[in-house]
Parts: sequence; structure tokens; C-alpha cells
Amino acid sequence: MSLLTATQILGLALGILLLPSSFIISGNAQIPSGPGTSRCPKGNGQVVRLSNLTATEYTVFFSGCPPYDPTNQTTPNIPSFQNKTATFRVNPVISANATYVGRFAKGNTTNPVLIMSTIGYSVTGIALFNDANAQSQDAYVMEAHTFDGCRGHAEQTGTYHFHSEPGPGCVYNDTAGKHSPLFGIMFDSIPIYGALGDNGVAPKDLDECGGHTDSTYPFYHYHTTYNLTAPYLVKCLRGCIFNANGNPEVRDRMASKPASCAVCQGPSPGQKSQPRQKRHHLHQSRNPVQLQLLRQ
Ligand SMILES: [Zn+2]
Ligand SMILES: [Zn+2]
Repeated sequence: MSLLTATQILGLALGILLLPSSFIISGNAQIPSGPGTSRCPKGNGQVVRLSNLTATEYTVFFSGCPPYDPTNQTTPNIPSFQNKTATFRVNPVISANATYVGRFAKGNTTNPVLIMSTIGYSVTGIALFNDANAQSQDAYVMEAHTFDGCRGHAEQTGTYHFHSEPGPGCVYNDTAGKHSPLFGIMFDSIPIYGALGDNGVAPKDLDECGGHTDSTYPFYHYHTTYNLTAPYLVKCLRGCIFNANGNPEVRDRMASKPASCAVCQGPSPGQKSQPRQKRHHLHQSRNPVQLQLLRQ
């Protein structure tokens, strides 16, 4: 396929129509790469732009500012442009080891290696965080009073982020009787949807990480938790974390914790590292972004 076609596919899969002559997937084309530390505008500061695409991976620029006024959050921090890029695999690779990102590891034991930074992005380019605040307490319980109407707020560097599903209409809207729309993509290149599965019913077959396959989307994907219960987004990442994902903190933490974090090894797409029993699973995970497009 041509680059433009692939770009359009990605744009469509991320939920927004793409102008043929632009690499902007969604958002405000008037905003360039983002001046780094300047505050997000009260209007539309959203930019999601495909910056590179190969047969095996794609890199996306995120401004980190939402398509609405983020200044109603009540932390002392100022939501600011982030100028981030992240690289994802076209074909996610399920790992033999889950990477626990939040407060709890296997069996609800305390997780000693929380990922206290971005673990994914919404389709609107907003950082997704785990379920912990800086004191390893439940971020939703302890910090919800600082959220704006979209359940977003900013941390010390000005990164505006979600710990949970956003408010209705902030990134997507559920439709009665239907599977929730795409919410974002995690750093293991696996997509995350809203809380509702097939036929608009909360899924009952989610694995420990919060993922499954279903009839609507027959590839491995995550769901936000139903009714805003912990861990809100995902407990763990089932896919390997692409080492060049553009977030040095996540990359370095994972590289330094090889026993507990599933960093992608070897040449992309790394299917040789796939455990035998997961091959079927992997096949179902193939091209989730493109598969979603084909089903629209
Ligand atoms: Zn937070
Ligand atoms: Zn589902």
C-alpha cells in the first residue's frame, strides 16, 4: 500500500478522518511540533500526527493537549505541550511475561516496579497513567478531586493525563448496544477500548491485565474497567514493550528490570520469542489498528 493510504488507514483507525495532503491524523493543524513547556491553549491544542511508518512499526507525535479547555483541573500544575513521539509495532507481540504497571502485581501483591509515567496514549494524544499517585496510593481515589470534567489533570511537568476512562464525549462516546470505541494505544502496541464489550455489555472474560478478544474485535485488546473500579485502565501489559517507544523513562525502567518487564527482544517483529501456546493469540492480535478499520 502507498504511504498515504497507510496513513489514512491509521488516521481512520484512530477515529478521525485524515486530510489527503496532510500527515496530521487529528487535531489542530495550525500548531507545529509544540513549544515544549508552553501551556495548552483553552481551545483545541490536540495534535496527533504520524511521523514515520514502515512495514513493521509506526511513530506518532502527540502534543499532549486535549481538544478542549484543560484549565479546569485543580492541581497547581499547568497542562502544557509535551512534544512527544512514541513508536508502536504494526503487529503487537504477546509476551510470555506480563508487565505489571500499577500498584499491584500478580495475585494482588505489591508491585515493586510501578511505571510512574506514560504507559500509553489516547487517540487524542493524551498520556495514560497507571492507578497510582506519587505515594503509590490509588490515584483515582486520592486525586479525583483535582480532575476536570474529563477526568484529566496535570502532573509536575505539565503532562495532562488520564488514570481512568475519560468522561463521556472527552475522547469517545459509548453507543447503547455496541462495543465501546477505541480509547487509545498502550506502549505494548495493544489498543485499549472503553468499558463495554460485545453488544454494549461489560465483558466478563477479561484476563488479569484487562484484555481479551471478542466478536466485535477478534484480536487481543484491553478494556477500561467497568464502573470506574481499580485499576481503571490496565493492571499489566501483555505485549512486549517496544524498546524504541520514545519514552526514556519507561524504556529505561524496563531495560533495568528484565525479569519483571517484557521488553521486546531481537529484530522486529520478534515472533520467534513468542511462546508456543500463544501463537494463536498472536495471530488474532495481528494488525489490530488495520483490522479495526476494516470493520468500520
Ligand atoms: Zn495523575
Ligand atoms: Zn472487547
